[in-house]
Amino acid sequence: MKNITILGATGSIGSSTLSVIAHNPQRYNVYALGAGSNHTKMLALCLQWQPQYAAMANKAAAQTLQQALRAAGCKTQVLAGEESLCHIASLPEVDMVMAAIVGAAGLLSTMAAVKAGKRLLLANKEALVMSGQLFVDAVKKYNAQLMPVDSEHNAIFQCLSPNIQTNLGHCDLQAAGVSKILLTGSGGPFRYSDIESLHSVTPEQAIAHPNWSMGPKISVDSASMMNKGLEYIEARWLFNASKEQLKVVIHPQSVIHSMVQYQDGSTLAQLGEPDMCTPISLTLAYPERVPAGVKALDFTEIGELSFIKPDFARYPCLELAIDACYSGQHATTALNAANEIAVDAFLNRRIAFTDIARVNSRVMDKVCATEQASQLDSLESLIELDRMARSLAREQLS
Ligand code: NAD
Ligand code: MG
Repeated sequence: MKNITILGATGSIGSSTLSVIAHNPQRYNVYALGAGSNHTKMLALCLQWQPQYAAMANKAAAQTLQQALRAAGCKTQVLAGEESLCHIASLPEVDMVMAAIVGAAGLLSTMAAVKAGKRLLLANKEALVMSGQLFVDAVKKYNAQLMPVDSEHNAIFQCLSPNIQTNLGHCDLQAAGVSKILLTGSGGPFRYSDIESLHSVTPEQAIAHPNWSMGPKISVDSASMMNKGLEYIEARWLFNASKEQLKVVIHPQSVIHSMVQYQDGSTLAQLGEPDMCTPISLTLAYPERVPAGVKALDFTEIGELSFIKPDFARYPCLELAIDACYSGQHATTALNAANEIAVDAFLNRRIAFTDIARVNSRVMDKVCATEQASQLDSLESLIELDRMARSLAREQLS
């Protein structure tokens, strides 16, 4: 029986994780749940799963939760504040931590799990994007076991050999015979729209992803392909990949979740339903496989698979992210922070969809012009840069 902490338990990945656990109650125990401010959802989860701890970043939400749990006679202990998320990520009784908080808000608790040497199921890609080298070095130093949850990285992981799988962040693709990693993406809801019409799309249209059901921020990122850009940076760190070893391919059907090409001319791909329960179940059970509640693909139903080269005029955020990846940590941390502010402003109807790339680009340019030489060798320095990029992004909004 493995004890699990789920950070971001009230979100989309949190709910898929609990669904996989429900299919395997003899293997996994929900030990602690963490979230931001949704106390209503957390109350329901506590009543259902009876965890030892429930931690809420928002202190008022924690208080409301505590009163409701007491009234219901539930013994779950409620903790409050960001420190409490770090606490439940590093408890000695915990074997695995699902890091599924959205955005930079998940950095400290995700790092706490790394520093406690846990098996880390990483969904919170922003944490890796904003800390890169520091993150993969900490994984090695503290002997944590890194398992990619993001469906593309999980697919790539499945197409690689065990010596790479057990050395993420520091592996040698070339020595393993790999020539290229092909990161696939659907292209989002606007892949066939007239580019001129993109400035007037609504948040509702942007979050209506054609293939996947996800939280609002990653859904907007998928529409702009900023998500693929963040995933490009994520892949660079997870697989220690060079520019020549990474390529993005648009695959509208989302049947193939990514591919690995080898020097002998072979291409390996992982295929499946667009359901996060599959990659999540692999990160929980690895190296074994367990039921995930997902049906197998029916190839005669699928028909044809197609592939398109990404067009940077349609997806400027993708190009920005690839540029940032090779500019350095200051650029990726700043881009991630700016994007969180811009996406939030778009969701709140303060800016147009096409302004997201504009804000991101201006903040990145400013930071690259001034911060190139700054030392980013601590979490504090990264958080400071994140804060500065957020305020530059807010200036752009006004
Ligand atoms: P979501 O919006 O559905 O859930 C976000 C979770 O984070 C919630 O539990 C929320 O309470 C918590 N949270 C938000 N702000 C917080 C804060 N300040 N402090 C603590 N907790 C906070 O998001 P999601 O779609 O589940 O995505 C979660 C992460 O997983 C993201 O990084 C996303 O990129 C990644 N991811 C998601 C999917 C997917 O299919 N949903 C796929 C791949 C990767
Ligand atoms: Mg993904």
